[in-house]
Amino acid sequence: MPTVIPAIVAPSATEPMFTSTIERRDVGPKDVRIDIRWAGICHSDIHTVNGDWGAQHYPLTVGHEIAGTVAEVGSEVTKFAVGDRVGVGCMVNSCRECANCLAGEEQYCLNGMTGTYGARDVDGSITQGGYSTGVVVTEDFVLRVPEAIPFEKAAPLLCAGITTYSPLRHWNAGPGTRVAVVGLGGLGHMAVKIAHALGAEVTVLSRSLNKNDDALALGADHYFATEDPETFRELRGAFDLIINSVSAPIDVNAHLKLLALNGTLVNVGLPPEPLPVRVGNVINSRRSFAGSNIGGIAETQEMLDFCAEHAIAPEVEITSADQVNEAWARVLASDVRYRFVIDIDTLRS
Ligand code: NAP
Ligand code: ZN
Ligand code: ZN
Repeated sequence: MPTVIPAIVAPSATEPMFTSTIERRDVGPKDVRIDIRWAGICHSDIHTVNGDWGAQHYPLTVGHEIAGTVAEVGSEVTKFAVGDRVGVGCMVNSCRECANCLAGEEQYCLNGMTGTYGARDVDGSITQGGYSTGVVVTEDFVLRVPEAIPFEKAAPLLCAGITTYSPLRHWNAGPGTRVAVVGLGGLGHMAVKIAHALGAEVTVLSRSLNKNDDALALGADHYFATEDPETFRELRGAFDLIINSVSAPIDVNAHLKLLALNGTLVNVGLPPEPLPVRVGNVINSRRSFAGSNIGGIAETQEMLDFCAEHAIAPEVEITSADQVNEAWARVLASDVRYRFVIDIDTLRS
């Protein structure tokens, strides 16, 4: 018998979310049941419900930055015990046998990974996300949250953390590399913290000068406003790696010109609109325009351990279940410093 639990539900692309209930499957032999304690609000939750990336199955409960404690384990579970502090990110399963899964890059599963919400699950149902009091996940897609990470700050690491850690590592950010982070939101502020901890020289490119002091406090070395055309003249050829976390289209050609020889512009922001690249801008200086999607399970655990070791955690604003629509409006207005986290206990009372 599936369990009925409280959840925040989006009824359609256009109506506000409200508190209702969803069903969770019984715990199978390899499953872990998690009592969710904290759920981060990612801009992807908003893109998804708005239908920016395609039609959805409604009603839908989103949320893929999940932190909680293990409440029950299946008979064959070996990695977790009741009471463990755990996390779940953007995936709850994958085929586990394709070349990409075998390479530990489950997020690029050739058969399509199973997203934490809005995806077709093994039993044919549509997966439902973390704006809810509990979730049942196969143990292989559950992460361990180190004790050194404050619990309410752990959730955003499961998406914003890994999405920025993975490309910074893949493109070798470290001492001697000049990294620019475009957009200082949930992902952007994690990119600054992680790139700084990796030893890179970090520049923030935000629209206005409003976030200058915050950026320097987060670990940035330099800060420029992209609304000032002088920024693009002054910084020509200045970076080895640019992480673009903006949720809307940017002038990609203007940003490509900021790359030095062999530099790479990595898009993690995923606006629905195409970004037209002028080929001359990548031919010149042998530049690359790339993208990156979250990270694999092993790399996500590596990121959590790295954040624990370097005392890195997101800047969070705690919100409650009845304020979620207001929180989304503030994310859309870039008025969050720098990640909303829902206190899921407010969904229990
Ligand atoms: P967010 O907190 O809203 O941050 C986005 C930032 O982009 C804002 O803080 C703002 O920075 C800038 N921005 C917003 N609208 C803009 C506009 N019209 N023009 C220029 N800049 C604008 O969002 P997030 O949660 O970090 O997510 C960012 C993007 O990454 C979203 O598209 C999301 O879907 C995507 N994402 C991708 C992955 C992946 O695996 N690739 C994972 C998670 C999220 P400033 O105020 O500094 O200008
Ligand atoms: Zn996300
Ligand atoms: Zn696969």
